[in-house]
Amino acid sequence: MMSPLSPELLAILVCPVSTCHGELELRDKRLVCLRCGLRYPVEERWPVLIPEEAEPPSEP
Ligand SMILES: [Zn+2]
Repeated sequence: MMSPLSPELLAILVCPVSTCHGELELRDKRLVCLRCGLRYPVEERWPVLIPEEAEPPSEP
């Protein structure tokens, strides 16, 4: 199975939180912000970059 997101797309995406804008990393079908730790769902090969839809960090 292919990766749900192309590396090219992933490279330009950043966290949408205005105070963060951290890099995002694909982990287990979610985009995890490397700065604030929010986890954004990926639906139908398209990331849902909405802070209200994101899960809080699983680890401190
Ligand atoms: Zn962030």
